[in-house]
Amino acid sequence: MHRWQAYHTPRTVAEALALLHAHKGNARIIAGGTDLILDMEAEDAAPIEVLVDVTKIAGIDRIVQEQGWIVLGAGITHTQIESSPLLRRHAACLTESCGVIGGPQVRNVATLGGNVAHALPAADGTIGLLALEAEVEVATHSVQGTQQHWQPLLSIFEGPGRNKLAPDQMLHAFRFRPVAAREGNAFDRIMRPQGVALPILGIAAKVRMDETARRVEEAAIAIGPAGPIPFRAANAEEALTAAKVFDDAAVEAAVDAAQAQARLRTSKYRASQAYRREMIGVLLRRVLRTAVARARP
Ligand SMILES: Cc1cc2nc3c(=O)[nH]c(=O)nc-3n(C[C@H](O)[C@H](O)[C@H](O)COP(=O)(O)OP(=O)(O)OC[C@H]3O[C@@H](n4cnc5c(N)ncnc54)[C@H](O)[C@@H]3O)c2cc1C
Repeated sequence: MHRWQAYHTPRTVAEALALLHAHKGNARIIAGGTDLILDMEAEDAAPIEVLVDVTKIAGIDRIVQEQGWIVLGAGITHTQIESSPLLRRHAACLTESCGVIGGPQVRNVATLGGNVAHALPAADGTIGLLALEAEVEVATHSVQGTQQHWQPLLSIFEGPGRNKLAPDQMLHAFRFRPVAAREGNAFDRIMRPQGVALPILGIAAKVRMDETARRVEEAAIAIGPAGPIPFRAANAEEALTAAKVFDDAAVEAAVDAAQAQARLRTSKYRASQAYRREMIGVLLRRVLRTAVARARP
């Protein structure tokens, strides 16, 4: 049985969007296919007529540093991310989060754009990007031509497995600031030993230390799954930056705040709510200490 009628490999964003527009409602974007093909095989899946493969678009897998940003094409694979010296230096929380997705076969084809667009609150690459305070470039079909604009990463999520993109929009790129002086970031997660899909819990954090390198003056903490969409632990960030010095008490204040704010649930295949709550403590302590150590001279 054919799962689709036509498979297109456009070479430009405009071509991809024109195809999506022409087949509105019957077309889907495919990148690595590691989520989409499984979705299409689900018993209750609606049939899809047209697949638009975005991985052949020129520049869709670029990694560049330009005009004060690090820019990643949405079609970059997790293997490309993991092996980039530039990203290892500036975005350890992203290389660490993408580096544990699936196994090598999955990472060789699965993309960051697919990880984000699939919109799961625990998606590892998404959690890494969120702590980097990344923005996403959304490309939209219009009669005047392709329109592209940058928006905060969180603005595209609607709910578990649902993004806010229109049928003729696509994610084109991500961008975030390179690591500056006294900044560091880190990611860690906990996974069932036999698990191959999503983690029990993943946490990424980015910190900037003050000039004495004793106090955290800015923090971004992302936790997943801790709600219907990827979660920024704003109260934990505040607790950390309110502390006069980065010490055990500051870390515990951040842990308490994150545990109180996170919306955790018990999942049949992964873990109980209580276990996840406990793991916020374990992972956040670890990730904060690593990020701070990386930020210190
Ligand atoms: C065995 C296995 C293990 C896995 N382990 C993990 C894991 O540990 N952690 C984790 O986070 N994930 C995991 N995944 C899930 C998956 O591999 C990742 O989410 C992956 O990054 C998805 O990317 P993809 O390119 O394969 O997306 P696809 O399957 O090609 O697409 C996924 C969705 O995104 C849409 N899409 C893709 N690209 C774009 C774009 N540029 N613009 C707009 N929409 C787009 C598609 O239409 C589709 O709805 C695993 C999957 C498998 C099969």
